[in-house]
Amino acid sequence: MISVEEASQIITAHQIDWGTETIPLPLANRRILAEAITADRDFPPFHRVTMDGIAVSIDTPITEGLFRIEGTQYAGESPKTITSRGSALEVMTGAVLPSNTNTVIRYEDLTFSEYGDKRFAALNTNVNPQQNVHHQGSDRRAGEVLLQAGIRLGSSEIGILASVGKSQVLVQKKPRVAIISTGDELVDIQVTPLPHQIRKSSGYQLAAALQEMGFASELFHLPDHPESLEKKLTELIQNFEILILTGGVSAGKKDFVPATLEKLGIQKQFHKVAQRPGKPVWFGVRAGQNAVFALPGNPVSTFACFLKYVRPYLLQGTLAPMKAVLSEKIIFKPELTYFLTVAASFNEEGRLMATPLKGSGSGDFANLLACTGFLELPADRSEFTAGEVFSYLSFR
Ligand code: AMP
Ligand code: MG
Repeated sequence: MISVEEASQIITAHQIDWGTETIPLPLANRRILAEAITADRDFPPFHRVTMDGIAVSIDTPITEGLFRIEGTQYAGESPKTITSRGSALEVMTGAVLPSNTNTVIRYEDLTFSEYGDKRFAALNTNVNPQQNVHHQGSDRRAGEVLLQAGIRLGSSEIGILASVGKSQVLVQKKPRVAIISTGDELVDIQVTPLPHQIRKSSGYQLAAALQEMGFASELFHLPDHPESLEKKLTELIQNFEILILTGGVSAGKKDFVPATLEKLGIQKQFHKVAQRPGKPVWFGVRAGQNAVFALPGNPVSTFACFLKYVRPYLLQGTLAPMKAVLSEKIIFKPELTYFLTVAASFNEEGRLMATPLKGSGSGDFANLLACTGFLELPADRSEFTAGEVFSYLSFR
């Protein structure tokens, strides 16, 4: 049986290139960028006034002064000039700094007066040269790389893309995702189950988790019957690049999923990982075409495997790893990686503290309500002390 680390490496090594597409910027949030983005101009592109006030020219700090106002430089106007050193132009935030000035004095630091048709501003505090000006190119230079290909776009990146005029963006194509539950005991959620039946729930849970990641998915259900499985999966493999199956991968007499997938040309990369919950997890690929995750059916196992294996695969390594602090001692004897259900929150020192949730095993999905994620306790020991830091799979 392989370890969790080996399973993760195998999955990463089987990333499939889904190609690229150009999409309008407003649709690009959460997508993976497929081109490097450079600054088309300096950031900011001109000496930008950062306060409403007056622009003057001074060489050294001053503590007093009287400036004649020659006019106003509004945002959006091309640069004006002052005609003499003792003059000033009123300037508004966002305006170009008038060409022969170097300092902006805020309205708050001035007293205005009028003599005939002339207007003056007297200084009532001290002022330094270069004040209240955001200098051209001081943030980024034209030509500098702002965003690397391969990053996942969020709101700040969308703002940057807009500022360099990328109304269309090259991103990675998204694979089509099918979620396929199996199990003859499962009924549709609209149906009142018979006493020996249960409603299909985890497919909806996975669809919601995918939605949060920016992925659409379609739900299917297949019976525990080899011929029906084979027939329907043949079709699904053609129509979807990513298949997430749940149930039917363990050692039960009706667990036909692994054999059927192999029969259909999905090459098994692993079956069974030294972990709890989720040991029977299966992963296979059809070169360049499909990636298939067959997850155990117990809902807590399903979800742990989804977070550990499916989510990073679909997000192509763009998810930042997280750590959390175990808040109380745990003993776990089996030589398996233990995905411990925890409720994690930040304490007063800003440390993410993970409190174990007892629950009653991998079938207890109501336990996920209080749960914020899984703390990953390594397989090579059995005692884990309070205060130790471990990898954390967060889903809140
Ligand atoms: P299996 O992995 O098929 O042996 O299923 C393990 C357990 O998980 C069984 O008790 C199933 O009824 C339950 N289960 C499987 N699939 C689902 C599902 N989609 N929603 C809720 N429970 C499920
Ligand atoms: Mg089953």
